[in-house]
Amino acid sequence: MFNFSSLMVLFFLPQAKDLIITPATVLKEKPDPNNMVFGTVFTDHMLTIEWSSESGWEKPHIKPFQNLSLHPGSSVLHYAVELFEGMKAFRGVDNKIRLFRPSLNMDRMRRSALRAALPGFDKEELMECIQQLVKLDQEWVPYSTSASLYIRPTLIGTEPSLGVKKPTKAMIFVILSPVGSYFSGATLNPVSLWANPKFVRAWKGGTGDCKLGGNYGSSLFAQCEAVDNGCQQVLWLYGEDNQITEVGTMNLFLYWINENGEEELATPPLDGIILPGVTRQSILDLARKWGEFKVSERYLTMGDLTAALEQGRVKEMFGSGTACVVCPVSDVLYEGQTLHIPSMENGTKLASRILGKLTDIQYGREESDWTIVIS
Ligand SMILES: *Cc1c(COP(=O)(O)O)cnc(C)c1O
Repeated sequence: MFNFSSLMVLFFLPQAKDLIITPATVLKEKPDPNNMVFGTVFTDHMLTIEWSSESGWEKPHIKPFQNLSLHPGSSVLHYAVELFEGMKAFRGVDNKIRLFRPSLNMDRMRRSALRAALPGFDKEELMECIQQLVKLDQEWVPYSTSASLYIRPTLIGTEPSLGVKKPTKAMIFVILSPVGSYFSGATLNPVSLWANPKFVRAWKGGTGDCKLGGNYGSSLFAQCEAVDNGCQQVLWLYGEDNQITEVGTMNLFLYWINENGEEELATPPLDGIILPGVTRQSILDLARKWGEFKVSERYLTMGDLTAALEQGRVKEMFGSGTACVVCPVSDVLYEGQTLHIPSMENGTKLASRILGKLTDIQYGREESDWTIVIS
């Protein structure tokens, strides 16, 4: 038996060829790339695609950046029926604009949609619509190899009723925001982390492995407590044995000599509580190709970390994500004690090498099939 909603997905795909483009008549001034606060400035256009269970996906529409008009009963506003993605367009040294492994973002967005009971869509068609949007706003991709254009695809439930149920109406929208460098100058600024098992970011059977808005709104309280305790971000712990899982909204890597005396780059496995980062995957792919040390997806606990610190076996710890690529960790505040991580003393050697390699690919200094040129 075919299920009705999957039939709908098959018959009513959003089609990039049907794209309706309404250009903005007034263009905004572009910001100075050296003075941009993340996600505060938006480009001239946006993409919207509406969906209903009766008619499927409507024609995609690129139009002037504007407020949304939503029924106050919309399920996104009440029950956080929402998911998002985060990716970037880079202007390369050859002036070409590239996306970095965007199909991984589209795959993840589809998985999030499924988990949020939001409609599926054709990944290639959506990708094509996003490329058209970036092309139209291409002058907003900063002329800088330390800045980029952040792309925020979003899918919301617009069901105009208060019933807690699968939405029969939804909308994709995509907005673009030029973003500056995460780091000031050539040095990687390290972060300090607050580790306290009283808050849990994600749990088995939950939604932590999907980019659902609700995961992030509910993390703010812990983030505030981290700041109140003099730290910059939360080190999320899980389970009886205080597994270390993620850092803020980044994946986590530990570069160390493991308990068996092996040089190892380790990150927690994708067991349902870890967000499958594109940067995480890229770091694993790179390090495995280098083949210079053991590369593992394995559990790491606070006990493993403290023992390794006592025995001088920790080389570096860093977070990874689209915003910063890599972000070294200098300290972890845990059970009233500050554990110092010698990432900076070790010259952030591995983190810097990864940053160099990935940005070479993103800015076209190195040919790679991880990028697609859009203009
Ligand atoms: C987005 C995100 C990441 C990083 O994913 P990238 O695809 O590398 O940007 C890691 N952890 C969490 C919780 C995230 O939301």
